[in-house]
Amino acid sequence: MIDATHDPSRRSWVASANGHSEFPIQNLPLGVFSPNGDDARIGVAIGDAILDLRALAQAQVVDAAIATACEQPTLNALLSETVAARAALRQTLSAILDETAKPRPEWLRPMADCVLHLPARIGDYTDFFAGIHHASNTGRQFRPDNPLLPNYKYVPVAYHGRASSVIVSGEGVRRPNGQRKPASETVPSFGASRNLDYELELGIWVGRGNALGEPIPIAEARDHIAGFSLLNDWSARDIQAWEYQPLGPFLAKNFATTLSPWIVTAEALAPFRLRQAPRPAGDPAPLPYLFDPDDQESGAFDITLDILLLTPGMRAANAAPVRLARSNTRHLYWTAAQMLAHHASNGCNLSPGDLFGSGTISGPTPESRGSLLEITEGGRKPLTLPSGETRRFLEDGDEVIFRAHAAREGVVGIGFGEARGVILPAPELR
Ligand code: MN
Repeated sequence: MIDATHDPSRRSWVASANGHSEFPIQNLPLGVFSPNGDDARIGVAIGDAILDLRALAQAQVVDAAIATACEQPTLNALLSETVAARAALRQTLSAILDETAKPRPEWLRPMADCVLHLPARIGDYTDFFAGIHHASNTGRQFRPDNPLLPNYKYVPVAYHGRASSVIVSGEGVRRPNGQRKPASETVPSFGASRNLDYELELGIWVGRGNALGEPIPIAEARDHIAGFSLLNDWSARDIQAWEYQPLGPFLAKNFATTLSPWIVTAEALAPFRLRQAPRPAGDPAPLPYLFDPDDQESGAFDITLDILLLTPGMRAANAAPVRLARSNTRHLYWTAAQMLAHHASNGCNLSPGDLFGSGTISGPTPESRGSLLEITEGGRKPLTLPSGETRRFLEDGDEVIFRAHAAREGVVGIGFGEARGVILPAPELR
């Protein structure tokens, strides 16, 4: 899996890519962009620029078998390709951008002049709950002695989310109105959510799908995962607390989900794979349909995740965003392959461009909590920011920024770009 495209000595004729903390030539993430109001096409982030994949396909420098997929306005067709085809494209892109190749600036667009779109038409979106520290921290608020429900260590728990309201980084997030019923009140009222929160998650992109009725075995699951993005599962905690029983999240979650625009491919992340952390003594082994030795050996990832907040007060004072938490994807209790194999285990069909959220990725320490629900313990312990402002939950004008980086000794580190969103006031009641 690790090949010449990961070679740390490899440099690009795109000067800004060399030493770039996010998009060096070893990354090559895929996205969809519009240069200067032009129509949408597929591109590859390289340094401060985007390589126009449609232009490459039209110039017949990519494999003819995938040229049509490269000319589409979304990544769905490319995501449906085999692992071998995707890896071959990566080899081609790496060679084209290598410093020994002929510079082709006509295929580049400055990223700052481009609008970035959602990378794919998302057919279905499913949100998992695989962050065990988040599940424990939130469960503890309701069941101090027994925070995890009995199914947690057997089932990769999830609910079906809403694809229509998945938005790309930079789009505003409208505070939702909804039913709120705090414990202090006997009947619910309808109005703006008072407890608006973020959730730090890894977005997992389905590549090749499966036919209805045909499960995907765990040993093959990895081949169906094309790549990863950052995902913010915005959550209205007051609406959630009142509505979620007995069928789970609904309007508290489906008003907006923010995604970072780039798909960091499974191939780019090969050097950052980890052994899945051994389960604590006493935990059950995964059932056989969720257990694969290769997946246990290298199904986890070492990706550092940061949550930053920029308040209106900080923006007015020209202050930099403040980091609220730092976590890592290694804290997930289930691997992406286990989530995918479980999802398809009953014959449910998955399609290229389907999206999973991992669940909120909190770590074991207070500094690594992936939601305000956990940081402020349900709003009971407000957070004091360096600006002197306090927060229980998000206020209008607050901007939440997620970033992610993978690094390892002897390897060139890569980044995910950003998933950011500003909270806009709730619509007026009418
Ligand atoms: Mn979530």
